[in-house]
Amino acid sequence: MSTLTFYGGVGEIGGNKVLLVDESRVFLDFGTDFGKERRYYEPPFLQPRNEGHLLGLGILPNLKGLYKNRDEERSIDGVLVSHPHLDHYGYLKYVRDDIPIMCGETTKTMIIAKEASGIGALGYQIARLTRSGSEIFKKFITFRTGKPPSHSPIEFTPVHVDHSVPGSYGFIIDTSEGAVVYTGDFRLHGARSQMSEEFISAARKSEPSTLIIEGTNVVNAKMSSEEEVKSKISSVVERTEGLSMAGFSLNDVDRLRSFYEAARENGRKLAVSMKQAYLMHQLESDPNLSIPSLNDPDILIFTREKKTISTWEDEIKSTYNVINAVDVEKMQRDLVLAASFYDMNELIAIKPIPGSTYILSQSEPFNEEMEIDFNKLMSWLERFGIPQYQVHVSGHALPHQLKWAIKEINPKRVFLVHTEKPELYKRFLADLDMEVISPEEGREYEV
Ligand SMILES: [Zn+2]
Repeated sequence: MSTLTFYGGVGEIGGNKVLLVDESRVFLDFGTDFGKERRYYEPPFLQPRNEGHLLGLGILPNLKGLYKNRDEERSIDGVLVSHPHLDHYGYLKYVRDDIPIMCGETTKTMIIAKEASGIGALGYQIARLTRSGSEIFKKFITFRTGKPPSHSPIEFTPVHVDHSVPGSYGFIIDTSEGAVVYTGDFRLHGARSQMSEEFISAARKSEPSTLIIEGTNVVNAKMSSEEEVKSKISSVVERTEGLSMAGFSLNDVDRLRSFYEAARENGRKLAVSMKQAYLMHQLESDPNLSIPSLNDPDILIFTREKKTISTWEDEIKSTYNVINAVDVEKMQRDLVLAASFYDMNELIAIKPIPGSTYILSQSEPFNEEMEIDFNKLMSWLERFGIPQYQVHVSGHALPHQLKWAIKEINPKRVFLVHTEKPELYKRFLADLDMEVISPEEGREYEV
């Protein structure tokens, strides 16, 4: 008998943690539960400091042999990570270092780059960068699309999918009860939709007993494509008389490429943040990603004023030319400047000229904290007379595409995760000839 237990991603977007028990015990993703943390915490003043805090609140699954700092025997054979978004891997920091992490090669590169350029608490880092080199604390088992790793606690085929971050995978897992397919997060309207189609077709061929599928977009879906986003960005940049500014996720390399191309079409250079540059620097050797090169004369790196310089920042500054607010002030008509809410202090030194614009190109605020940041960003833009445009397309499949994917894959039963409206989603699928389950958190289901 094999079973599935859903410890997160149930009735919420993100926080996926699915325990698959067959001959081995493996988690599918082990993500941060931002929604539940928000109920109790107010970072940076109050945040969980160890696994005990999150276990005490019932946010982490109460399982023995899984966490650090405990005198228990290891009970989990591995964690299979679908892609490098925190809501899918963020709680790995609480997991014992001897539990292997299975993920794509690009996912590993991105997780380590983000760790090296972030501030992890001592004892809870996945990796760290010191003056003498980098140190990786976890055991990684990596793979590429269609090629399962040679040593792994479970048998599975990873197949790439298109999502708003590179290195995203769906999985076809062999169990004693047939194949279990897990989509992770995916979309079918992005720049590389054929990757998701390849996954769906491989999943169909496995004649799965079970499908676990996301449903982020069953509400608030917007019809658009990356191509359309790029052309809209380009028209805003074309009409911008002063500095053109942009806010987008630094993980989203498709969006990075869209801004880069839109800047070039209009005779401008794209200035990226230090963190984005560090990620690009780490991913540069992967030709499959076609990321703009930091050596390209149309790419600049912008640094904000800082008193202390970290090791990773040193690496960028010693390898590439970096510009600051004083430089930006002089070249406003020649730039598209990637600037998030956290860069807004720099506007005082940049002194944007009249006719400058801001393009917000990431998810609209969907929670209170993001709302607060959004309102503050708007205050900055108002102060400097900068109108704001919204141009975005989501990293998740649209409702009709989700239903199409489920019909194509044609499992016996389907579990709906990573959605705020599982009941709506279930009714939307009610005419399909299969068992559709909106799982209960912590309950064990047979595969
Ligand atoms: Zn994601």
